[in-house]
Amino acid sequence: MSETVLIPCSSCDSDHIESMKMLGRRGSRPGFKKRCSECGLSTNLYLNVEDAITAWNRRPREDALKAKVAELEKRLRPYLDAEEQLGMDLANMLIKLHAAQMQERR
Ligand SMILES: [Zn+2]
Repeated sequence: MSETVLIPCSSCDSDHIESMKMLGRRGSRPGFKKRCSECGLSTNLYLNVEDAITAWNRRPREDALKAKVAELEKRLRPYLDAEEQLGMDLANMLIKLHAAQMQERR
């Protein structure tokens, strides 16, 4: 078997990834999986070690989620900027109003 690098856990970033060989007792099927010994995140069960390694290193769902988050952040940016600007405008208005009220009282 070739040397294979396992990427750190996607959940806790740990490098402690263990191989587990499941014996398949009591009706469950035998196979291999990779499991993070820190947080317990694991792959599904595979018939051979290589497939378990491939599964551990492949994160299609995460990649898709990251792309979606990036897209949403990009679309949200103008609204966040507008909100921030509105907040600053409002704060400035309140400061001016307060100053005007203070002047009237004199
Ligand atoms: Zn972990």
